[in-house]
Amino acid sequence: MQRYFLNENAELHQRFFITSKDDIHHILKVMRYNVGDHIIINFNDQQTYKVTIINIDQKNIEVEATEKLEIHTEMPVSITVVSGLIKSDKYEWMLQKATELGAHNFIAVQMARSVVKLNDQKASKKLERWEKIIKEAAEQSYRQQIPNIKYYSNLKYVYDMINEYDYILMAYEEQAKNGETSKFKEMLSQLQPNNKVLLLIGPEGGFSEEEIALFETHANIVGLGPRILRAETAPLYALSAISYEIELMR
Ligand code: SAH
Repeated sequence: MQRYFLNENAELHQRFFITSKDDIHHILKVMRYNVGDHIIINFNDQQTYKVTIINIDQKNIEVEATEKLEIHTEMPVSITVVSGLIKSDKYEWMLQKATELGAHNFIAVQMARSVVKLNDQKASKKLERWEKIIKEAAEQSYRQQIPNIKYYSNLKYVYDMINEYDYILMAYEEQAKNGETSKFKEMLSQLQPNNKVLLLIGPEGGFSEEEIALFETHANIVGLGPRILRAETAPLYALSAISYEIELMR
């Protein structure tokens, strides 16, 4: 059953209005739900309820929270995927898949070797589109939280925030080429629930030497295995490995 999201605090038997046009369209036209049917809604703080449709009119659907569901689908560690701007279709594909795999947040960055360039106006249009892709992927994959996404025009702005994170993980292709295979695994074994991880992935052309130098003293600079992955594949490899370690092996 598809999940929907409402940015509200929920309590049992409370009533809410669904007003998002996309959600209403999906509930009525795609799923063909009616008054009396149940749907599942994620509210704030990862609270999930089964709700009953009470009333349907032109502009909104009224629902009542009828049962609290004890489900936990969020990754216990929070991963922020920082990646270099790449071709639009590749980046969007990555956003969808990384949301399914549990990424907590995304930061798109104009890196030194990003071929794609965005000005502010284009960036705000893109952000809207990216938010929509992420929301749909979050609903489809039963996430309890919608990842957020930001855009920065320089990796230096990301550097300014590193104190907010427990681990800075920089995936560097040159490490892989040098046969480095233990650092990522070592870091995975140290991860604890609620840790915040910043995962840095370069664009198609990789990181510049200046970008590596900027993070060198604070980051774990790791290889992600012997093969060189495309920029859109690398975050998915890292997220899968983190999920395996934290969600399946412990
Ligand atoms: N064009 C570069 C590869 C860039 S791959 C070259 O041929 O050398 C794009 C990004 O994915 C890299 O910057 C890195 O962050 C990540 N990546 C891909 N494969 C990787 C690997 N095996 N180990 C670590 N990082 C990797």
